[in-house]
Amino acid sequence: MKTIEYRIFSIKKSIPKNIKILAVSKNQDISSIKKVYQTGHRDFGENYIQEMILKYKKLPKDIRWHMIGRIQSNKLKYIVPFINLIHSVQRIEHLKIINKEALKYNRIINCLLQIKICNEKNKSGITNKKVHEILENDHYKNMKNVKIIGLMGMATFHGSIQKIRHEFDYLNKIYNECKNKYKYSVLSMGMSRDYPIAIECGSTLIRLGTFFFGKKNIQ
Ligand SMILES: *Cc1c(COP(=O)(O)O)cnc(C)c1O
Repeated sequence: MKTIEYRIFSIKKSIPKNIKILAVSKNQDISSIKKVYQTGHRDFGENYIQEMILKYKKLPKDIRWHMIGRIQSNKLKYIVPFINLIHSVQRIEHLKIINKEALKYNRIINCLLQIKICNEKNKSGITNKKVHEILENDHYKNMKNVKIIGLMGMATFHGSIQKIRHEFDYLNKIYNECKNKYKYSVLSMGMSRDYPIAIECGSTLIRLGTFFFGKKNIQ
């Protein structure tokens, strides 16, 4: 059994330096997260706002928290005071809430738009057309406390390498179309089983859960 320390050390060595790694800590207990934290890693991602808030309270305050799960509008305001990046924005209504709350804390919250790149029913996301609708929406253009800085997507879980590559290529294409015009800097794609393909296809940020923590969890 390889230790968490060893796994983090080896992946950081094996991928290009400009690729950011997010440790997806959903379902993981505080002590497992602390082990990763103690290696110097600071970026952690959660799928549920309530779970993130509990962990935020118990863990060191220099952790950079990332929201990667489906957004519950009524709970969104609770993470605004401390969130680092929200990967899963899909609606202008979400941006309105984030902007309004962020103003209270004098923060500018960075967000990504989640794009649907595969056909699996449980994977959500918006279309390329919707991306442009949001970015060109006057409400969004007038928001001073929220900034869309890139895109996020999830590939088919049990897809062939070719299929996954095709989906990531598609997301990278949309990303590049927006990159200069909207000053994008983050393309969040790739998980434990497909991150090498994602990196080849232009990912700038990979989200790894199982890779860090193994399959065992507290649920
Ligand atoms: C759970 C999750 C991950 C991490 O998945 P692994 O396969 O465990 O690496 C990444 N992104 C999102 C959006 C997730 O929900």
